[in-house]
Amino acid sequence: MSDRFTAIHMKEQPAEDRRKNFSEVPCGYTEEEAILEANRCLQCKNAPCIEGCPVAIDIRSFIGHLQKREFDKAINKIYEADILPCVTGRVCPQESQCQARCVLDKKGDAVSIGSLERYVADRDLDRRREALKDAPVDVSGKTKVAVIGSGPAGIACAADLNRYGYDVTIFEAFHKAGGVLTYGIPEFRLPKAIVDVEINSLVQTGVKLVPNALTGRSFTIDELMAEDYKAVFVGSGAGLPQFMNIPGENLNNVYSANEFLTRVNLMKAHRYPEYDTPVKHGKNCAVIGGGNVALDVARTAIRLGSEKVYLIYRRSQEEMPARHEEIRHALEEGMELLALTNPVAYHGDESGFLEKIECVKMELGEPDDSGRRRPIVKEGSNFFIEADVCVVSVGSTPNPLIAMTTPLLETTKWGTIKVDDNGMTTMPGVFAGGDIVTGAATVITAMGAGRTAAASMHEYIKKL
Ligand SMILES: Cc1cc2nc3c(=O)[nH]c(=O)nc-3n(C[C@H](O)[C@H](O)[C@H](O)COP(=O)(O)OP(=O)(O)OC[C@H]3O[C@@H](n4cnc5c(N)ncnc54)[C@H](O)[C@@H]3O)c2cc1C
Repeated sequence: MSDRFTAIHMKEQPAEDRRKNFSEVPCGYTEEEAILEANRCLQCKNAPCIEGCPVAIDIRSFIGHLQKREFDKAINKIYEADILPCVTGRVCPQESQCQARCVLDKKGDAVSIGSLERYVADRDLDRRREALKDAPVDVSGKTKVAVIGSGPAGIACAADLNRYGYDVTIFEAFHKAGGVLTYGIPEFRLPKAIVDVEINSLVQTGVKLVPNALTGRSFTIDELMAEDYKAVFVGSGAGLPQFMNIPGENLNNVYSANEFLTRVNLMKAHRYPEYDTPVKHGKNCAVIGGGNVALDVARTAIRLGSEKVYLIYRRSQEEMPARHEEIRHALEEGMELLALTNPVAYHGDESGFLEKIECVKMELGEPDDSGRRRPIVKEGSNFFIEADVCVVSVGSTPNPLIAMTTPLLETTKWGTIKVDDNGMTTMPGVFAGGDIVTGAATVITAMGAGRTAAASMHEYIKKL
């Protein structure tokens, strides 16, 4: 039962079951649950929720349609601003975006906007799967444009460029498209069958996809321009892992989150030896960090069979940047949170394999530039955690390859590509957006940047 202030929560796989499988955790709404939840929406005149959405989805209208069971109108309203609602409904940090602005949030539960978005988008999936049977649209003879990277920024940019009437080619370094949606976010949060529909739909509209094409090695941006691509979008993300530069990081079984997750999500290491990529998960697995990436690693390690999975985080749980739902899920699944703790060194055995992690206790001081309280080391608090695997998930930066091989592209001191308000870089005709510009951020902001750049590319080409 629901009242105005209590949300209908999606049913979920019980924690004991889901610890042992990679299937999605929330089961989705039934139609009646979705309508009940939609009916909690007050349809506020000023709709503050829309201001909380980075791409300004007309949330009030789509929920209004849902209240009247106008499912087609609801999904079309979402598609106006967001072409990946099956994805964003699942992974957006709604609690700090649209739902944080919901007026019901002040007195009870905010309307579950993300879950409603997912419901409406999932309903449309079958129609979209059916449409994939049509032959791909022929775009020959149209003006050529290139997109580098097939993550959310590249997908959104390519889709809009295709709608503007260009012959679009996406060049992707990996053998499989989707960016972080494919190699980073695990199956239990974002089923890969959904990402496949998104990619195949794009190809079906005439967008060409070239896998195993590493820009900067296979060819350069200058070479693309010389091949008559009138404009290029760089959406190559921020996939270069950061480490903490503490002693012992080179020991065996100290992984980056990027490598650990890619082995499982992209190379299917959890099905080794059926797939020929192994991954060591360890009896005691420690994960360093407090964001979505760290939580994804911890929950993956649980599913791979680690007996103990520790999350070592230097601030307190309240400061963790991960989605609230993901923190709750991980704790229910048995992850042990070691908050206010920081590693200072890794110690190994004679053969160079990790044995234990030396940590210190932290306390919180005054807020830093991010507004969060600064963690300060408690002197003399050193202690050891036994761990045979450790996965470092403390952030990532852009891979410098494209900037290194494109002399006209200016970058910031963080290695991100400089762009103007229209997403144009310092090289005429070359645009950029997503994590390569902002540093590691979110799916929805990357998509928004891809769309802004597509509109600017269209204007740029019209003036050529
Ligand atoms: C594990 C994990 C979990 C996350 N969870 C969430 C979440 O819950 N919610 C959320 O909103 N965000 C989440 N994020 C962040 C979000 O996924 C990213 O902000 C988003 O994917 C950025 O999109 P992008 O298109 O800029 O880059 P990416 O998704 O990184 O895509 C870039 C693509 O470019 C390709 N590429 C790189 N270099 C080259 C090259 N030289 N030539 C050709 N191709 C190249 C890469 O292979 C990749 O496919 C998560 C990130 C990770 C890693």
